[in-house]
Amino acid sequence: MGSIDNHTAQKITSQFPMNTLEPEEFRRQGHMMIDFLADYYCKVENYPVRSQVSPGYLREILPESAPYNPESLETILQDVQTKIIPGITHWQSPNFFAYFPSSGSTAGFLGEMLSTGFNVVGFNWMASPAATELENVVTDWFGRMLQLPESFLFPGGGGGVLQGTTCEALLCTLVAARDKNLRQQENNNIGKLVVYCSDQTHSALQKAAKIAGIDFKNIRVIETRKSSNFQLCPDRLESVILYDLQNGLIPLYLCATVGTTSSTAVDPLPDLTEVAKKYDLWVHVDAAYAGSACICPEFRQYLDGVENADSYSLNAHKWFLTTLDCCCLWVKNPSALIQSLSTYPQYLKNNASETNKVVDYKDWQIMLSRRFRALKLWFVLRSYGVCQLREFIRGHVAMAKYFEDLVRMDNRFEIAAPRLFSMVCFRIKPSAMIAKICNYEVNEINRKLLESVNDSGRIYVSHTVLGGVYVIRFAIGGTLTDIKHVSAAWKVVQDHAGALLAEAF
Ligand SMILES: *Cc1c(COP(=O)(O)O)cnc(C)c1O
Repeated sequence: MGSIDNHTAQKITSQFPMNTLEPEEFRRQGHMMIDFLADYYCKVENYPVRSQVSPGYLREILPESAPYNPESLETILQDVQTKIIPGITHWQSPNFFAYFPSSGSTAGFLGEMLSTGFNVVGFNWMASPAATELENVVTDWFGRMLQLPESFLFPGGGGGVLQGTTCEALLCTLVAARDKNLRQQENNNIGKLVVYCSDQTHSALQKAAKIAGIDFKNIRVIETRKSSNFQLCPDRLESVILYDLQNGLIPLYLCATVGTTSSTAVDPLPDLTEVAKKYDLWVHVDAAYAGSACICPEFRQYLDGVENADSYSLNAHKWFLTTLDCCCLWVKNPSALIQSLSTYPQYLKNNASETNKVVDYKDWQIMLSRRFRALKLWFVLRSYGVCQLREFIRGHVAMAKYFEDLVRMDNRFEIAAPRLFSMVCFRIKPSAMIAKICNYEVNEINRKLLESVNDSGRIYVSHTVLGGVYVIRFAIGGTLTDIKHVSAAWKVVQDHAGALLAEAF
């Protein structure tokens, strides 16, 4: 009989002397890491916001291969401080106003830490019932905070899922819409399916359409205008749909946006969904950034019409204190998602799934394996409560309003698009240039302003082009950002603009 004696077992153990998850060592190093991060948050304001390194900087200062012998956490953290931090663009800096925020919080961080600590792989209910059931509960909670109709929540036959990013949410809903349509068609003609969006829709939709096999020629990017504040016009949508129908194409999917990335414009959902309904389109509402604001009664109006959409998503990792990644997606018809994304191999068969009484989230997303994201959202919702979350949003909106007033008081500048939430689009205006003969064209001077402000490292802002006009986007939403940072940021912009204008004439 082959049996393993004690001696052999001991030999195997002694060949593997290091317990890499030894609880007391974990405790010691874990505390060190928390101290490191707490110190980082104390100091982050003083670092240049946008990293000032040149491409390839890191390869030059790191060894060519991995160490053969173990190194201590102390040594590794030393390198983080001296080699990694200089190459970090500090998204948690109170002086970060670029793109959209990535608001961290103690609750979000701790929830993330707990999820990493448990390190469960909750692809189906059985693989960690709490991971699935907590996700069911928090998406219902959040849906109620947003006053989504009951049809988007589990008790109403719909439901929510936490995905990584909006790109994934768009792809999953598009694939669900595609397959639903193809099932109804006789000749399975994917080449005829048409997707609609505006020129302000996030590029994520184009990527999703590409991956979903939609013919590139069948992505309709409908032009918006400054005169209608860059909103997607329902009449234009309808005329494009009619044109496609005349040409034998099949309208499939509309992506409407609440809070566009360039200017935070809000598409008119009530009218758009009415048009979409006539032609049986799947409507997805992408509210990646601005969706969070809709937990405040005064902003909820921007979601009016969502009750007629098929799916809705927002990024809790943008402006909702939940660390990356956490895209919340709600759908009215989970079975459409499941029919497209479900697989059920032998090695995953289990009694719970057989009952059809549980949610198996692997069938609601691209990946099989999934993280326990619900923990961090649950921690955020419970630690701050609806009242503090609303105050968090309102504080940023008030600061943005204040910044807008500062811009308006300086007659060299103008506001370039209406401010609805916590992002201000502005630029040096043409009349500041034509008083004297100027070497620069107006877009060019604004581009130079952005560059010089960001090179200073004092603040970080980003830009967009709206109707051919180069504008600077000033997005407030950092958890550590205070009114004094906003005032100081405006001073930085004014100083750099003054220097540029003086040099230009
Ligand atoms: C940020 C943003 C996205 C992209 O989000 P990811 O989660 O990075 O995919 C999509 N749409 C809008 C409106 C956004 O603001």
